[in-house]
Amino acid sequence: MIKLVNVNMTFHGKQVLENINLEIARGETMVIIGPSGSGKSTLLRLIIGLLKPDSGEIWVDDKELFRLSEDEINAVRLKMGMVFQYSALFDSMTVGENVAFGLRQHTKMTDEEIAAVVRRKLRIVGLRGQENTMPNELSGGMKKRVSLARAIAINPEVILYDEPTAGLDPIMSGKIDRLIAGTQRRMNVTSIVVTHHMPSAFNIADRIAMIYNGRIVETGTVDEIRHSENPLVQHFIQGQKI
Ligand code: ADP
Ligand code: MG
Repeated sequence: MIKLVNVNMTFHGKQVLENINLEIARGETMVIIGPSGSGKSTLLRLIIGLLKPDSGEIWVDDKELFRLSEDEINAVRLKMGMVFQYSALFDSMTVGENVAFGLRQHTKMTDEEIAAVVRRKLRIVGLRGQENTMPNELSGGMKKRVSLARAIAINPEVILYDEPTAGLDPIMSGKIDRLIAGTQRRMNVTSIVVTHHMPSAFNIADRIAMIYNGRIVETGTVDEIRHSENPLVQHFIQGQKI
């Protein structure tokens, strides 16, 4: 479904991703781990087409993103939903309007059809009836769930999550993990989840890739990562500083 080939990315002359090769199969949950500043968010923004790599190829389905016209890139982007690190809700819009945003932008659905989708998606994330609430009335965990409802409103084939449990207490983190896993099963999507919360990673991953200093240092199943002999991986998953 997604393939990165020799991807390099620099910001102001500083290399933040180096020779990234990664394949993610349709229906798979790929978890990306690694310390802060290692390039995880940059990787997601490349995959969703918000950034262009300096070199290399990014394939989504059978299309290489940067050989496409702007219209074609937009069509590919419509297959993807993203849950941003800080939820990134529009504070001046109600919860319902936030969830409806992509549908209004990209479909010709009627108001009634949109309202029905919003109702359904809010119910899925456990926020039934919160259409008219404003984002600033919500807790961090609820904002995350609105953000997830917005991401799934367009029925994406791929969902990208940037640190969906960061800043949440363990109970809310567990709820979000279960929502991610449930969404995966229900919608049969491909999921890419950035986290540095190892219990989440082990819970939800089919495979895990670890990034360190802009490079992928290991990719494997949950079991392979748990038993990795790479000291960087072992230190990281045991919560030691690397
Ligand atoms: P992570 O998500 O793993 O914490 P990021 O992808 O956010 O890492 O950042 C990787 C590196 O790239 C960091 O050193 C960060 O400061 C730098 N960086 C990220 N975005 C930009 C940007 N827009 N301009 C300049 N530097 C950036
Ligand atoms: Mg980040």
